[in-house]
Amino acid sequence: MAKESLSSTEVRDMMIEVARKIIESEPILTDADRALGDGDHGVGMERGMKAVKEKLDGAEFDDPGQVFLAVGMAMMSSMGGASGALFGTFFRAGGKATGDAATFGGEECAAFFKAGSEGVMSRGGAQPGAKTMVDALLPASQAAQSVADQSISDGLTAVAEAAEAGMEASKDMVATMGRAKTLGEKSVGLPDAGAISVALIIGAMRDFVTA
Ligand code: ADP
Ligand code: MG
Repeated sequence: MAKESLSSTEVRDMMIEVARKIIESEPILTDADRALGDGDHGVGMERGMKAVKEKLDGAEFDDPGQVFLAVGMAMMSSMGGASGALFGTFFRAGGKATGDAATFGGEECAAFFKAGSEGVMSRGGAQPGAKTMVDALLPASQAAQSVADQSISDGLTAVAEAAEAGMEASKDMVATMGRAKTLGEKSVGLPDAGAISVALIIGAMRDFVTA
């Protein structure tokens, strides 16, 4: 059933579903990072999301922002690697931006993705087109701004579609950031591992709100 907005308990349950999705996708992420990087992205994300599940299972939160802050802290302290710091930053900055809003609707979703993607860009220094997670995150954030007046179900549907398209577009890019940049032109044809993670995370958020 379509949802207008989510309570903090629903956001918690949504993020537990996200964790489940990423844990089961470890082989896909491992293969993607093995092709263009050092192959540790899948295991890192699995470790981060296991920490997220542990932190969220059965816990109560004052507001949706607190859930995202907890997700960011769990990822940052458990993962390591470039993506641990960057996903940690993403969820922490996003959670901070929703403030103490009691529900997570279209407006909070727009604020979340805007602050999250800006946080990743300022922390990692990657511009769009460098073949990183930014190439899925930025289109997702832009979509979130344009559907800020819609329900969370319609909003996250549009945001997930944009993230997926951004991940697909990363295939044609030449890596100029992260470990893949040493491959140069040879990186063309395959998607960026972090962009796949972004598409999977937002896809699982969408699946939760449209189920
Ligand atoms: P590491 O590169 O330390 O092995 P991971 O394998 O966990 O870390 O994550 C790799 C992913 O991190 C890449 O696929 C890319 O999406 C992302 N990434 C790496 N460096 C940056 C950066 N400076 N800005 C944005 N994303 C980055
Ligand atoms: Mg790696």
